[in-house]
Amino acid sequence: MLTDIEIAQKATMRHINEIAATLGVSSDELEHYGKYKAKLPLSLIDLSQVAENKLILVTAVTPTPAGEGKTTISVGLTDGLNYIGKRATAVLREPSLGPVFGMKGGAAGGGYSQVVPMEDINLHFTGDFSAIEKANNLLSAAIDNNLQSKTRNLGLDPRTIVWKRVMDMNDRALRHVVVGLGGTTHGIPREEGFNITPASEIMAILCMATDLEDLKKRLGNIYIGNTFRGEPIFARDLHIVGAMAILLKDAIQPNLVQTLEGNPAILHGGPFASIAQGTNSIIATRMGLSLSDYVVTEAGFGADLGAEKFFDIKCAASGLKPDGVVMVVTIRALRHHGGALKEDYGKPSIDLVKKGLVNLEKHLQNMRLFGMNTVVAINYFPGDSDEEIELVKELSANYNTPAIVARGFAQGGKGMAELAYAVADMVENRPSHFHTLYTNNLSVQEKIETIATKIYGANGVTYAAKAQQQLKQLVKLGFEHFPVCMAKTPKSFSDNEHKIGRPTDFTIHVREFEWASGAGFVIPILGDIMRMPGLPSVPAAEGMDISNDGIITGLS
Ligand code: ADP
Ligand code: MG
Repeated sequence: MLTDIEIAQKATMRHINEIAATLGVSSDELEHYGKYKAKLPLSLIDLSQVAENKLILVTAVTPTPAGEGKTTISVGLTDGLNYIGKRATAVLREPSLGPVFGMKGGAAGGGYSQVVPMEDINLHFTGDFSAIEKANNLLSAAIDNNLQSKTRNLGLDPRTIVWKRVMDMNDRALRHVVVGLGGTTHGIPREEGFNITPASEIMAILCMATDLEDLKKRLGNIYIGNTFRGEPIFARDLHIVGAMAILLKDAIQPNLVQTLEGNPAILHGGPFASIAQGTNSIIATRMGLSLSDYVVTEAGFGADLGAEKFFDIKCAASGLKPDGVVMVVTIRALRHHGGALKEDYGKPSIDLVKKGLVNLEKHLQNMRLFGMNTVVAINYFPGDSDEEIELVKELSANYNTPAIVARGFAQGGKGMAELAYAVADMVENRPSHFHTLYTNNLSVQEKIETIATKIYGANGVTYAAKAQQQLKQLVKLGFEHFPVCMAKTPKSFSDNEHKIGRPTDFTIHVREFEWASGAGFVIPILGDIMRMPGLPSVPAAEGMDISNDGIITGLS
């Protein structure tokens, strides 16, 4: 079989004007970035269409580190729906350079279910990440400038500043740095650090914003730190919100590209699923629904994190009403949850799959807590046995949930037709009754407790002394009405990554809090959460090259 990039390079792409035409958008309305990429103006959003058309969320069981194929299934399902005659658009996140050059690789799908131009999408694309980085770092520069200022000094206590600079690169050496060294003309020395761009609050804000006005309001609400007298300072106090918004004027527009089969895909924003909402922008989802009968979208990590945040943060804030869920499962993930060692993930084992099914079962039960109907997509890998697949179908049937083998990776849209029929049937004939898990008027502790007990299956929640003290601070700051954005390991329902399957009899421990008052959520931190990853000892970047005629190799 060809590699992802070889498949992508063999594809004959259609001009982006043709893709736009399938959405009823004329070439005049597009902002072109060459022949195969374009930005869609916000004026194309039509809220009556958003309410009418069907929104399908692709989520997954608790994943193994390789990922279980949510992006691949999202792209494949979009092609599958178009294959059976529906008008569907994939609406997804943009990849970050960190994983591209680090370990995980790109995020444009896989096999015959990819979005193209694959190289551009995985590299600088239309520059959105750079714009976010610049807006973020303009705020950083303004903060350090204010510390230095004699006439306009806000009295910020440098030790309380939580705002960090960002860069879209895995670079662990930048996690902790000291800035302002060199004497009086070079700034006030202070401890600083870099996050990777997808971990920037600006990224989270761009993906929560509904238009430029809302974007500016959110940028202004960014919390920076406290004065020496203990008063909070927000980005608006530095008077550069307008300038930050200028830098984001193009980045706020969603990007139109295509799948390998020439169907529309809108990629926009890419907040991490670990400390942020982990899903594409509200604007892009609304855009897709304005222009297309079906939108297929993805939320990062397993359903305990991605789907929960999608529902309780993104849908709650925007009024989006999802119509159905696709739960991606792989047989290898079930073997893993049944106790298989990594080297045995590829070996058929009825016993281990039987044991591992408890993980899928809990995720299926959880979707019902949001009033959602589900179709299970078994992302097929060579070596999955019929008996193992049958077990998934039996378990799903107990929940009135169809489970369908998805062969988009090997076959493209044709291999997704059966899944597409089941998904179309679900959203047309079995309406979901979506509701959030909690209401925002609960206390922060009550919200965390609700998620922990109902979604994770925990007995309860404990708080470190630091977290308890921060709870008081965030109430004082007036942030208690925000939803919570859980920062937990994606590898387990619990906060202990070694507890596979469906752990029972555990509590979760909140170590500390962060808040993103511009994006609009409070972040309970349950473990060590990486805001600036490092490169592995042999980074993927070492295998990459470009020939004299411009052909790229080694990107995956
Ligand atoms: P997620 O979005 O859940 O993180 P991806 O769709 O990005 O997962 O897939 C993770 C990796 O697995 C990608 O490299 C992709 O090419 C590969 N992959 C996905 N589905 C299959 C499959 N059915 N067979 C082989 N490889 C697959
Ligand atoms: Mg993905």
